[in-house]
Parts: sequence; C-alpha cells; structure tokens
Amino acid sequence: MGIPKGLKDIVLEESDFQCAYCGYREGLHLTLHHIVPSEADGDTCYENLIALCFNCHEKVNKSKKISIKEIRRLKRHLVKRYLTQQGVNALKYAFWYDQVDVSPVLVHHLVERGLLKFEKKHMWAAHDIINTYSITENGRKLAEQWVLNKSELKEKPKSDISD
Ligand SMILES: [Zn+2]
Repeated sequence: MGIPKGLKDIVLEESDFQCAYCGYREGLHLTLHHIVPSEADGDTCYENLIALCFNCHEKVNKSKKISIKEIRRLKRHLVKRYLTQQGVNALKYAFWYDQVDVSPVLVHHLVERGLLKFEKKHMWAAHDIINTYSITENGRKLAEQWVLNKSELKEKPKSDISD
C-alpha cells in the first residue's frame, strides 16, 4: 500500500531513520509497519505506523519473535520522545480540560503536527509569553492511544486551580 511521502518522513524522523526495534540504519529503505494491520482495519496514519528494518519486520509478521506488545511499547516510547516531557504534560492537561495555557516554545511542535491549536495570547509576563491552546481531534486520538495510561483515561486528576 502506498504511504504518502509527508507521512513517511514523519514516521522515519520519529525513529531517527533507524529501525525502532534494533536500531539498524537503513535510511529510506526501512519498512513502515502497520501496528494494527490493514487487514484488521488499521489506518495508514502516524499513530499506527512504526519504522522497522526488513529483519525485524519479518520477526513481527512471520516468525512472531517480536511481540505486538513490544512494538506497542516502542511506539509509545517514540511518541513520548517526540512530544518531550513538557509536550506530554501539555497534551494530557489539554485532554482533560480541553485547553491548556503554556509557553509556545514548549509546544510549537505539537501545534505544527496539528495536535494543539492556538486559541489566544493568554498573558505576557516578564519575558514569558503564555498562550492558550485547545486540543484537536488528532491530539485526542494520539493522547488516548499512546500517551495516557488506563487510569488517566478513566479519571482526570483534580485540577489544582480552584473553580
Ligand atoms: Zn531491526
């Protein structure tokens, strides 16, 4: 199945052009593996793709020497590494409360990827600009799939801001 070039670039960049499992560098010859297979209605989208070398791809698909669980653990790690810890925190907060006030420097990559959307300039104190961002559909999807754990999905933590 054809994967659009822009999407391919994002997935390859995510794993730094290495096989996400063994680290083997094959550059553009890496295979983009569907975590949920296309046959099982897995989408061809960033959330469902991971870069693997030929050997590791065979180990997942054919010999099953690499488990689906292991691949999922790797994808979760890659997503979080891309987001950075501040990005993860901002996305979680926006997931629970629809919006988050945060410095643009910390989340510009999330905005670029369409996970958060700029709403308004919130305040400008000293040298810090703080903007308000809302979470997009894609942001929710990514957070649900790879960022939040089961308990975080079920129950949002109590806000430390009093209502
Ligand atoms: Zn590999």
